[in-house]
Amino acid sequence: MGTALKRKAKKLLSSVKLRRTNPRVAVLGLLLAVDKPLTQDQISTRLGRNAPDKVTIYRTLESFVRAGLVHRAFLQERVWHFELADDCTEQQCHPHFTCTSCGDTHCFTGVTMPMARSPEKGFVIGHQRVQLEGFCPKCNPNL
Ligand SMILES: [Zn+2]
Ligand SMILES: [Zn+2]
Repeated sequence: MGTALKRKAKKLLSSVKLRRTNPRVAVLGLLLAVDKPLTQDQISTRLGRNAPDKVTIYRTLESFVRAGLVHRAFLQERVWHFELADDCTEQQCHPHFTCTSCGDTHCFTGVTMPMARSPEKGFVIGHQRVQLEGFCPKCNPNL
C-alpha cells in the first residue's frame, strides 16, 4: 500500500477516534484504494500474505461500521459487501445495481432516491438502502 493511502487511512481513523492499528490501516487503505464494495473474503484475498486473520477482519469491519466510516452496501448470495460511507448521507446510501446476467454490481453514486414514507403511524424509517437489478451495458441484449 502506498504511503499516501496509509496516511489517508490513519487520518480517517483519527477522525472517528479509532486506534490506528495495523489491521485497521490495511483494511481501510484497501477500501480507499479500490473504491468499490468488497466482501470479507475479497478483502482477505486482496491483502494477500499480509492479511489479518478472518476474525480480525470481521472485527475491524464491525468497528468501522459502528464508527460510521463504512457501510454494509448490499447483500449478494447472503454475503455482505462493505464500502466506505463517504458517498452516503445519514438517511441513505447510493443505490446498488446488480446485473442479473453476469452478477456484477455497480455503485450508482450521485443517484438519490426519494425517501420512502411510512405506510402508517408508528413506523420510523431511519435508513434507506436500495438495491436495483437488471442488465448492465455488457449484457443488455438491446445494445
Ligand atoms: Zn452484466
Ligand atoms: Zn456503492
